[in-house]
Amino acid sequence: MATETAIRTAVGGIPVAVFGRDLESLGFVKSVALVDGIATVGLVLPTPALVGREELQRNVTAAVEKLDGIRSVKLEVSAQVVKRSARPDQGRVSGAKNIIAVAAGKGGVGKSTVASNLALALRQWGATVGLLDADVYGPSMPTMLGEPDVPAGTKVGQKIVPAIHWGIKLMSVGFFIEKDGAVVWRGPMVHKLLQQFLEDVDWGELDYLVVDLPPGTGDAQLSLSQLIPITGAVMVTTPQEVALIDVVKAVSMFKKVEIPVLGVVENMSYYVCPGCGHHDEIFSRGGGRKLAETLGVPFLGEVPIDAKVRFGGDSGRPVVVGAPDSEHAKIFMKIAAEVATQIAVVTQSAPKRVAGLVSIR
Ligand code: ADP
Repeated sequence: MATETAIRTAVGGIPVAVFGRDLESLGFVKSVALVDGIATVGLVLPTPALVGREELQRNVTAAVEKLDGIRSVKLEVSAQVVKRSARPDQGRVSGAKNIIAVAAGKGGVGKSTVASNLALALRQWGATVGLLDADVYGPSMPTMLGEPDVPAGTKVGQKIVPAIHWGIKLMSVGFFIEKDGAVVWRGPMVHKLLQQFLEDVDWGELDYLVVDLPPGTGDAQLSLSQLIPITGAVMVTTPQEVALIDVVKAVSMFKKVEIPVLGVVENMSYYVCPGCGHHDEIFSRGGGRKLAETLGVPFLGEVPIDAKVRFGGDSGRPVVVGAPDSEHAKIFMKIAAEVATQIAVVTQSAPKRVAGLVSIR
């Protein structure tokens, strides 16, 4: 007859492919109970958006059902996002467990579109999320996320309170500059501003803080990597070669400053004709995947070019919240799960900071 120990052994030995380890060694088995043939297994996952979560749950149920005398299996699954440890010389963003930088080699490839939908998708998965629009040259989040539910503000002698849009906290350079006002940002100013956003903003408890970086490999990226422990960077590119070459440059910058690259998102990958369903690969699809392979980093997904995505960004209702049942929203949900899972891999397998990106594969 099955015992709690036998159940724990059966469940603990189940491999979790993405980590290359089993449930027991990962510490995901929280509790096991057996009463009158009814087994209850408690799992605690490192993110609510774990890729392969359903298959894992099925495997756990099947492994327990196989044991003698089990009448039924109940799973209690919760998620607790693991905090990324910082280098001693880096500051902290109080309350943010993980910081995800969204970067691109050049402008116009959809970096902000990916950053906003990524943040909202992580929220839809059940995480607590903040979004820092650090694109000093073109802060687009106030437009992309529309009217806030709660506007940003300051209280005398207290920290800056971020705005709330669609359940996520937002702080943007755009809150501080006139619309269409030209601002020339020199390196030290960018550094100071980012420092303020990270230290003087009351972010509260966050599982993920998504940072929309300016395009390229300039001062803001370097400042950020000095200031805060970025868990990893998501690179956004279009499939065209010129964007890809710029990504290689940006990736090598992240390597130099010891920020793991979580993977590559290919945006504007292909176009599906809404009339006939024909796929047209305008910019020659697949470059992002090849690039990820060459760089030895995960390929996180491809986003087709679509009027819904553009309209969502321009109208303050990004597609993840504006059209949650659409194919595009599902694509962003999947990309968010890939990103959250890569973060879990980085934090699980390398609690101490590791150099470069090879270590997260
Ligand atoms: P970046 O931040 O790289 O400069 P944006 O995210 O601001 O780029 O995107 C530039 C423009 O392209 C915006 O008008 C946006 O709505 C549009 N866009 C981005 N991705 C897509 C897509 N997959 N389909 C259609 N339009 C897109």
